[in-house]
Amino acid sequence: MPDFSIGVDLGGTNLRVAAITTQGNLLDKITLPAKVPLGPDYVITEMCDAILRLSEKHKRSQNFLGVGVGIPGIIDLNTGMLRKSANLPGFDEYPVHTEIERRLVARVVLENDANVAALGEQWLGAAQGVANAAVVTLGTGIGGGIVLGGRIWHGMNGMAGEFGHVTVEPEGPRCGCGNRGCAERFASASAVIRMAREAIARGQAPMLAQAASSTDEFGAKSIYNLAIQGDEESSRIFRTFGRYLGILLAGLINVLNLEMFVIGGGVSSAWDAFAPSMFQEVLQRSIVYAATAPGSPRVDNVLTHPTVNLKNAGANALLAKSTERTTVITRALLGSDAGLFGAARLAALVGDTDSIPKMSGDPLSL
Ligand SMILES: [Zn+2]
Repeated sequence: MPDFSIGVDLGGTNLRVAAITTQGNLLDKITLPAKVPLGPDYVITEMCDAILRLSEKHKRSQNFLGVGVGIPGIIDLNTGMLRKSANLPGFDEYPVHTEIERRLVARVVLENDANVAALGEQWLGAAQGVANAAVVTLGTGIGGGIVLGGRIWHGMNGMAGEFGHVTVEPEGPRCGCGNRGCAERFASASAVIRMAREAIARGQAPMLAQAASSTDEFGAKSIYNLAIQGDEESSRIFRTFGRYLGILLAGLINVLNLEMFVIGGGVSSAWDAFAPSMFQEVLQRSIVYAATAPGSPRVDNVLTHPTVNLKNAGANALLAKSTERTTVITRALLGSDAGLFGAARLAALVGDTDSIPKMSGDPLSL
């Protein structure tokens, strides 16, 4: 009998539940509004009802492996508590894992939504067949996840992959996290709107000012539309966006040296407007990218450049060998389904003996 699992994507707006086979075939999907104001008990009960409907239906012909749930916020991986969630008010310190398992006779795995989206892209999306990849999700802020050996890298306590709060401008605008100049203050939907409003306030952006006063939904999409229509100020905003995203990526590439960096999230659809300055910045700032970029003319320069401090001949040989494998920066493919597929994958990956991911530094153990 073939195997399937259930993936759940609980966001501030929608609750989505899907039955997905271990081969990645979508069997069924339920989309409901997430009635967050009615409280966590109500939302979790609705979620479990949907899970039961799908699992009972498909259990007749397939072997049911369990449930994976992607949730926005900081999750205690040891206890399955949702510690804090900006998108789910009222859920702070709620024992999500316990409450789901209490309602279901099934194995349940909880995970941060950005991490499950990364796993989804690695399983069936842009990074399919690539064991090691990072996914940077550009939305209202910046989320992300790191997948090593086909498994989510949690870090010590599940907080790895906070790409949005890496400093890219020491004296930059203040961030909600308390730092200044975080990447998400420059390369996210809210950053695009901030930069547009600043340009309007300076009186330098007549097209943006007109759009802001005439459109109810003045947002990153309308600013992108102005950019592709040739508005210079809007184009400049996306060049700035790309520049700072490039600074972030250059650091990630230097540190992680992964095969692939996937750019996802709603704002990644503005790729045409920000990618040129992003690639330019990465190439300038990352020695690892310069040495491994697909078709990079700088590969030979880096290998022979006098300022490149290669520790010894062994390192030189290693770098030369690394040019045989390239660093790919590309767009995500699964869109908003990445989280659903990743959550289902998570449930399928967890062994029979392990219901909650352990706190672990071992990237191969959940
Ligand atoms: Zn921050």
